[in-house]
Amino acid sequence: MVTVPMSDVDSDIGERLNKLQEISSLLEPDAANRQTMLAKVASYTEAFADGIGERPVYQPPEDAAATLEALKVSEQPEPIDNALKLLDDHVTTLGHGLGSDRFFAYIPSGGLYSAALGDFIAAVINRYAGVGHAGPGAARLEQSLLDWLAKMFGYPDSAEGDLTSGGSMAALSAIITAREACGIASRNVPSAVVYITSQTHHTFSKALRIAGLGDCVVRDVPTDDFLRMDAAALQGLIEADREAGLNPWLVAATAGTTDVGAVDPLDAIADVAKAAHVWFHVDAAYGGAFALCDEGKSRLSGIERSDSLIFDPHKGFFLPCGSGVVLVREGDKMRNAFHARGVYMQDMVDDPERSACDLSPELTRPFRGLRLWLPLKVLGIAPFRAALEEKLLLAEYFRDRMQEQPHCELGPGPDLSIVTFRYVPESAEPNEFNRKLVHELRADGRVFLTSTTIDSKYTIRMAILGYNSHLASVDTAIAVIAEKAAELMSI
Ligand SMILES: *Cc1c(COP(=O)(O)O)cnc(C)c1O
Repeated sequence: MVTVPMSDVDSDIGERLNKLQEISSLLEPDAANRQTMLAKVASYTEAFADGIGERPVYQPPEDAAATLEALKVSEQPEPIDNALKLLDDHVTTLGHGLGSDRFFAYIPSGGLYSAALGDFIAAVINRYAGVGHAGPGAARLEQSLLDWLAKMFGYPDSAEGDLTSGGSMAALSAIITAREACGIASRNVPSAVVYITSQTHHTFSKALRIAGLGDCVVRDVPTDDFLRMDAAALQGLIEADREAGLNPWLVAATAGTTDVGAVDPLDAIADVAKAAHVWFHVDAAYGGAFALCDEGKSRLSGIERSDSLIFDPHKGFFLPCGSGVVLVREGDKMRNAFHARGVYMQDMVDDPERSACDLSPELTRPFRGLRLWLPLKVLGIAPFRAALEEKLLLAEYFRDRMQEQPHCELGPGPDLSIVTFRYVPESAEPNEFNRKLVHELRADGRVFLTSTTIDSKYTIRMAILGYNSHLASVDTAIAVIAEKAAELMSI
């Protein structure tokens, strides 16, 4: 047997560790290094923010293979200038110009600057927001936001909630909470009935499937002429299903549909759901923010009677992508659905702090609260309130102006800040004409609008939700749309 003297082993390991440290310590920039990088990033993002008003609202991408090749990472370090140049060439301004005041497509997502700074602080301080005792300040900051939001929606003190990455994950949490609260075991899924409409967001059905509820009976409740759920029809369906031995358990209403911005009659649906003992969920991913202003709040009347709701701050609170909220009226039901522990967490058994992991599918997660808290704190709530009332008014203004345009046909509403319209020219097939118009608008790049199909009619949507979309932005949209429509009509 060969024995190696301990000191040799030590010196060998010591040497290797020193070599490794030489390389690994690149992960630890010193203060001067940090400041240099920060200054470069600040001037890069400043150039982006400064130019947002001038750039086209849509920029088509280059060939994907070239991007993938250019963005490859390698063993060797590169100066941050190179990295920023690569972002500039291949990433930063491609695709949708979210954050432009002239972005009126889909549901606009803002990108408040102070929210970005909140993300930055959250990542630098890296407080663990998932477990109360690990990051008590972070956990309490999020709790105070959720308490405020619950109040905004008129929920009682029993409410609980979670800050999620978006509406899809928020819906998943709400559905799982409802599933557990209503005792829908796997064997009962085929007789469990869910009520939605043709306008329910596709992510709701996707979340049902992910939650193991894909085999539920799903009823498309009929809608009125503005595509709002018909509460009387809902009641009829629930009664018929119960008569047939099925188990009606969940109705999902929408407060602000993605297509046309319609708000289902929440009070009437609440009446039906309460009487039938069915879980009442509201998808307010788009419309929820309007609860902040008096005018919007009255349009969302009844939302306070729901059992659960979701809402996307990355829409109506103008945050960058990555912010959803789920709220559950009786918070204990949420805790029952998500509470779990591992033995390595035994030190938190008596932890009196509220832990987000007890109310969420996630354990480790970003400290999401800061990106919402910082803007609300440094800007105050008032500008948010004003902006939301402004968007409601701008939608009415847009509708009135478009009504004056020759051959322009307006859709119903608006309930919130989405207006639908289409041109019906004398000499062209309307679907084809409006499709061309949307294409021309995108190619032009001054404004960006998208479309949907309602009753086989190609319909253009004007979704007004940019924090910086004011009267002048809407006037620009009206002028550009009129110009392009006139051009197409004269061909
Ligand atoms: C955007 C939206 C969703 C999906 O939310 P994500 O944040 O995109 O996951 C769900 N419902 C409605 C009504 C929406 O507008």
